[in-house]
Amino acid sequence: MKFQPPTTIGMLGGGQLGRMFALEARRAGYRVVIFTDEPTGCPAGQFADVEINARYDDETALKRFLEQVDVVTAEFENIPASCLEAVEAVKPLRPGAKAIFTTQHREREKLFLRENGIACAEFRVIDDLAGLEVAVAALGRPCVIKTAAFGYDGKGQCKVNADTDLATAWKAFEGHRAVVEQWVPFVCEVSVVGARGADGKMAVHGCVENQHTHHILDVTISPARVEPAVAAQAVDLWEAVAEGLGYVGTMAVEMFVTAEGAVLVNEIAPRPHNSGHYTIDACLTNQFQQQQRAVCGLPLGDPAQHTPAVMINLLGDIWPAPTQHPDWSPVLNHPRAKLHLYGKKEARARRKMGHLTVLGDTVEEALEQALQIRASLGIGD
Ligand code: AMP
Repeated sequence: MKFQPPTTIGMLGGGQLGRMFALEARRAGYRVVIFTDEPTGCPAGQFADVEINARYDDETALKRFLEQVDVVTAEFENIPASCLEAVEAVKPLRPGAKAIFTTQHREREKLFLRENGIACAEFRVIDDLAGLEVAVAALGRPCVIKTAAFGYDGKGQCKVNADTDLATAWKAFEGHRAVVEQWVPFVCEVSVVGARGADGKMAVHGCVENQHTHHILDVTISPARVEPAVAAQAVDLWEAVAEGLGYVGTMAVEMFVTAEGAVLVNEIAPRPHNSGHYTIDACLTNQFQQQQRAVCGLPLGDPAQHTPAVMINLLGDIWPAPTQHPDWSPVLNHPRAKLHLYGKKEARARRKMGHLTVLGDTVEEALEQALQIRASLGIGD
């Protein structure tokens, strides 16, 4: 089924990814209804036709949401399975409940990768200290313990080094299931953002390079400065994941690149991704437009990048006070820099408040200028 404007797209989640989606969808003439457990006036709600604020298990509110929408998508994955199933029983949900269910949980995601023969770091699933000891003996040190459920941006992780006492390390995970992963001595981290349509056709934006600070994305460089064979492997892995999940919508796969040029999947995001924000300013069709096309059953757009670009995240750390913005002159004065703010009412440390994208004739030029702006804003001080 194809949904043309002015049909109504329902969005589960109210954050910045929903906001950027709503901007694109409304520009194309769609109506957008947001369902979020955030308070009214959330980042996505500010650009939606209708904002419904309720818990994801509020059946009455969910019914009211479903009555108003033709098709549903999501901007984050930590949605209870009961909610996903309730939506899918009534309206098309893209990506489907199964794809979101698989990728919202590290254990299920890793097992999916293993079952589909998709390269990733070796791992064991454990739920007690004895299991941890066996896993560490098998995988060797260093390795990393991650909560099986709901971890993102490095939350719920512990690196096991040569001298780490396992009993002490396990205390933070006590009572939870965890995944122990072999440490990957990567030379760089990359990701691929792309979309798969309802007809199974795929369109990827290509391989980008990501630099993290404190486990949070800091800089994205596109295109990635990697060998063509590495970029091709990354795209192949993205396609294998999309096919394996029977995915419909925009999806990101984060990967590690080793010194030998091997590429291993780290994480799958069943939605547009922070490392794809550069597509808004640098690609013929951006990741949110692709999401809208895929979700509406339309053919995908041309994802080609027209200009090299570097994206810098703007975290709450550079706000002088929770409601006092930094001086944006370094970005606003630059003819090839684009400022994107997410309309969050209060800044907090490590909170994603916005991003900026700098375009250049070459990726080196874009990177140099972006890093200058980044330094002028006091990022990384
Ligand atoms: P994650 O929450 O799994 O995406 O991990 C956050 C960050 O921790 C990654 O972007 C890496 O920089 C680092 N990291 C996670 N897992 C590993 C691993 N197995 N080996 C090396 N670094 C890792």
